[in-house]
Amino acid sequence: MIPNKRGYFGRFGGQYVPETLVAPLQELESIFRKSLRDTHFHSILNDLLNKYAGRPTPLFFAQNLTRELKGPRIYLKREDLCHTGSHKINNTLGQCLLAKKLGKTRVIAETGAGQHGVATATSCALMGLECAVYMGSEDMERQSLNVFRMRSLGAEVIPVTSGSRTLKDAINEAMRDWVTNVKNTFYVLGSVVGPHPYPWMVREFQSVIGRETKKQLMAYQKRPPNALVACVGAGSNSIGLFAPFYDQRSVRMIGVEAGGSGLPSGRHAATLCAGSPGILHGAYTYVLQDPHGQIKTTHSISAGLDYPGVGPEHSFYKESGRARYVSVSDKQALEGFRLLNETEGISPALESSHAVAYLPILARRMSPSQSVIVCISGRGDKDMAQIQKSL
Ligand SMILES: *Cc1c(COP(=O)(O)O)cnc(C)c1O
Repeated sequence: MIPNKRGYFGRFGGQYVPETLVAPLQELESIFRKSLRDTHFHSILNDLLNKYAGRPTPLFFAQNLTRELKGPRIYLKREDLCHTGSHKINNTLGQCLLAKKLGKTRVIAETGAGQHGVATATSCALMGLECAVYMGSEDMERQSLNVFRMRSLGAEVIPVTSGSRTLKDAINEAMRDWVTNVKNTFYVLGSVVGPHPYPWMVREFQSVIGRETKKQLMAYQKRPPNALVACVGAGSNSIGLFAPFYDQRSVRMIGVEAGGSGLPSGRHAATLCAGSPGILHGAYTYVLQDPHGQIKTTHSISAGLDYPGVGPEHSFYKESGRARYVSVSDKQALEGFRLLNETEGISPALESSHAVAYLPILARRMSPSQSVIVCISGRGDKDMAQIQKSL
């Protein structure tokens, strides 16, 4: 679905920004709308996605996992095989092309676990753009390998020492930078959050996941899938898989959030399961907030899911009942990691392990004549040290 003129999906979304950002957001929306209709833009982007980023990624029938769970046929969409190791590159290539079209010479980005920072630094190196990445100092310590990767790619990594010194604060700082340097600077946001048109634009760039899946499934079966499953941090890999199936009402959509130490403990990042509508990073959407509207600190074993907000389109999917949102705990996610390693020889990222961890629960209620598609959003190499520590 396309948001309305003011950038709303139902009652969610919009543009809650300082006045200085209204004109740049308009400029961004106008170049994005133009590019959507521009076949030349699409052919350049598709060329990069296919010849540089390694698309199309396979849709793999997970025969062993299917046998193990004794439920529906399970297919894996292998975004872990994308260049740089996750789906993030689908979006950064698109946005960096727009930056070039606008004649901007400098790109900024925020990053939590470092995956979006690495994908942005990669796209900038390829296209000859100057790159600065804001990262919480807490996250820089936890993800020092990705800090080194970004610096090797020629990016400047700027530590953020305000607030909880994590992703939420990095986005605040990146927005502040953008306000100041908007003349030559393009802000590459990493997920389907932020003010309009970001949630829509990032959704369009990530929808390549669902479009490919639809086509590839035809090689296995003529029927549409019964369910789609993906992890939800801020919501880009999930909406990228879901959106192309939006009008196929028989296809169930299930987003899996980070349940951390369990919802009752309060130590989690399950925004749609346990949050309420509010404003964060320029949009009206579900957020985790206290009774005074202050944003809560979140927890997840997976840095990529550790965020107190979610894309406004997901808030709309939730309230309209189009998708269902559930959570699995840190412990269950580790179990999901083990399950996919041992059955299929694939090591998913801790984020993606949340989606895998929901399969045993879902499979019990489904039959062998049915099918499920799971998005493996990234590979687990970056998480090995942490997993080793946790086990
Ligand atoms: C960043 C990331 C996520 C979470 O972000 P979404 O916008 O919710 O997709 C999930 N998986 C991986 C591998 C990531 O790098």
